[in-house]
Amino acid sequence: MDIEETVANLHRAFASGLTRPLAWREQQLDAMRRMLADNAQALEAAVLHDLGKPAAETGLMEIKLVLDEIKFAKPRLRLWTRRRHKVMPLLMQPATSWTVAEPKGVALVISPWNYPVLLSLQPMVDAIAAGDCVCLKPSELAPETSALLARVIPEYMDHRAIAVVQGAVPETTALLKRPFDHIFYTGNGRVGSIVMQAAARQLTPVTLELGGKSPVFVDASADLPRTANRIAWGRFINAGQTCVAPDYVLATPDVASELADLVASAIRRFFGDDPASSTSYGRIVNVKQFDRLSALLPDASHSERGHVLCGGQTDRDDLYIAPTVLTDVLPDAPVMQEEIFGPILPILTVRDAREAVAFINKRPKPLALYVFTRSKATRRLFERHTTSGALGFNLPLGHLLSNRLPFGGVGASGMGAYHGHRGFLEFSHVKTVTSKPLRPDTLRLAYPPYSGTVRILGRVPLRYSR
Ligand code: NAD
Repeated sequence: MDIEETVANLHRAFASGLTRPLAWREQQLDAMRRMLADNAQALEAAVLHDLGKPAAETGLMEIKLVLDEIKFAKPRLRLWTRRRHKVMPLLMQPATSWTVAEPKGVALVISPWNYPVLLSLQPMVDAIAAGDCVCLKPSELAPETSALLARVIPEYMDHRAIAVVQGAVPETTALLKRPFDHIFYTGNGRVGSIVMQAAARQLTPVTLELGGKSPVFVDASADLPRTANRIAWGRFINAGQTCVAPDYVLATPDVASELADLVASAIRRFFGDDPASSTSYGRIVNVKQFDRLSALLPDASHSERGHVLCGGQTDRDDLYIAPTVLTDVLPDAPVMQEEIFGPILPILTVRDAREAVAFINKRPKPLALYVFTRSKATRRLFERHTTSGALGFNLPLGHLLSNRLPFGGVGASGMGAYHGHRGFLEFSHVKTVTSKPLRPDTLRLAYPPYSGTVRILGRVPLRYSR
């Protein structure tokens, strides 16, 4: 079936009212749960094939998180879709009003390769919970996983309302020319801008889940061994290819060197002396990304690139880059000019928290910012004087795991948010409804020709606002 027909069919399905009943939404969420249960091993194998990602990581950080989202949304559908009554202003009385969340229509979900199961299915859960039809376009850079999703989704779920279109740039470009009621895109900012421009032509609302450099600040009050473990976990999971991974560390001079040593020993504990043979360590997605990352590593002729404290080994045939810690990196090093999105962790020094805040605020708004300190004043400083999609004290990645927290970026790291109720709302239109009896016709006080009463009514708020 071609793209035009696929999208037209989804619009027909939505117009028929198929997806509105809560019973349909619940059935589809159950069907997705069964699909995941029956195909968990196959999905883990597909992601391993595409990314070299350890099966345990796919289980914990992808499949489980989708199941959690279903488990959270399904029992709350009735609550989320209930009318919410609001009080009308005195002048409008007698009258009633309420809001009600209605499905937007047909949603396009464009997902990336780095968490190909999670980032395809979690937005779908929110869209289905909202009562939308969904067209999923998974990433061509995770081909086995995309093909598997394209096969099993129609086997388990209602193919009249849920479709998968496989393909790369030409297919996505063709999709973006079709009408949608919402576009949910996860990926890099360059393509985010293309998606937003295409959406603007049809005034389609968008959610952009983008990336960028997520900084970490560490000072002398932090518990350094635990800080190092958490930073190493967040940075090197999925071989560093996580949108909210700690991208670089700003440490005060009194802790920078000890912290770097502790991160290096955490790496040895996590992945052994030879991470290439560890079953817990992943690979880089493809040669293009491998070459980009390899070019960021220090060499003898560029002192601003810093020193390799640990790691630095690469194997192009195996798409392997060792978990690498860089010290003495300067802000103008190539590794500091773009999101790293790989297993390299530069550690820079800053005088204090204020300098770290100034450093962060000079750069694009991050998707996440992590602060390791025991100082309440420092925590307050970061909370009040920086902006980021999320702020984590002593906790990288943690916000990603909760259905009760909105997940999204700000500025260059994205717009809109999802997960749990926020995700349901992202795919819904919250409609305002008002109702006023025709008798008594109190509204006639506001009708022209304007009397003295209208003038008095307009002035009353002025008197009380003095
Ligand atoms: P990608 O290359 O898989 O692209 C994402 C999607 O965009 C794919 O489906 C692809 O087909 C489509 N696409 C690519 N080029 C296009 C074009 N010219 N026109 C239309 N569509 C096009 O993934 P990626 O962008 O390399 O993903 C990595 C980036 O995504 C990183 O920056 C990362 O931080 C970010 N990311 C963000 C989140 C988040 O939740 N905020 C999650 C994961 C990844």
